[in-house]
Amino acid sequence: MFQLFLPLNFLGFVYREIKASVANIERMFTLLDVESQVPDKSEKALELKGGSVAFRDVTFAYGRGKPILRGLDFEVPAGRTLALVGGSGAGKSTITRLLFRFYDVDSGSVLIDGQSVADVSQTSLREALGIVPQDTVLFNDTLRNNLLYACPEATEEQLLEAVRMVSLDRLIKDSPDGLDAVVGERGLKLSGGEKQRIAIARMLLKRPAIMVFDEATSSLDSQTELSIMQEIRRVSAGHTALIIAHRLSTVVDADEIAVVGDGVIIERGKHDELLSSGGRYASLWHAQQRTETE
Ligand code: ATP
Repeated sequence: MFQLFLPLNFLGFVYREIKASVANIERMFTLLDVESQVPDKSEKALELKGGSVAFRDVTFAYGRGKPILRGLDFEVPAGRTLALVGGSGAGKSTITRLLFRFYDVDSGSVLIDGQSVADVSQTSLREALGIVPQDTVLFNDTLRNNLLYACPEATEEQLLEAVRMVSLDRLIKDSPDGLDAVVGERGLKLSGGEKQRIAIARMLLKRPAIMVFDEATSSLDSQTELSIMQEIRRVSAGHTALIIAHRLSTVVDADEIAVVGDGVIIERGKHDELLSSGGRYASLWHAQQRTETE
């Protein structure tokens, strides 16, 4: 029986390995596919002057579908933070995809420091931008390589400092392999919060002028969420930041909050201003307060 079990166990291991690799390859092809849909129009590099972001009268639909954004207009001055809030499916993540130029807008323009993202090379665009996505992709590789992927030239000290800043140092101290511990199927199994911290550490190492945070609240308890928001605030200080927030309590002190709905910005302002104006933000806020106290 034991002899039979061993090869079966081994087959299970091989199956899991192949499945994990296929998942990674699929992700990579998805990324490559998205990128190949929008070829470079120009080899001109983006000239960064601080990293201001502006959406000017942007209309956009996926393929021939109904428009998701209809004349969207907003700007984020260099070094400031804008939180984007609004109901599910309002188009918040779509805004970030257009900033990265995963798709071209149907009309209007997306500008960084006054230059249209469509008129600069995608290599220079990706250098200026970084994202902590809702669902962080980790390669079935060492923690070190998962971090170096964001910044191949980072030194050992920089890697350890980034890990410390996102409070993952305990994780590597507990593992005999340290930074060379493999993450994923074969090695360290990371929680949703830990994966997000790795994404924030990648952002720390890359330090792009413009940082995008797509908050992943579903997998996080409120304590972890709060500490991750504190880390995000520390990492993004002095950088232009767009934060997509689902739980409004995490962005009360953003420089500005914009409520997205029906493909436009319905209202924008500081938390207190929006609350006292009694509009859409105020009703979202009160609704969330009620569910959190239930
Ligand atoms: P959530 O808060 O739930 O993450 P969101 O505000 O970020 O939502 P988006 O992800 O931008 O919303 O989606 C806006 C709309 O666009 C939704 O109706 C969604 O179904 C649609 N959509 C998103 N991605 C695609 C796609 N690749 N192809 C077609 N439609 C899409």
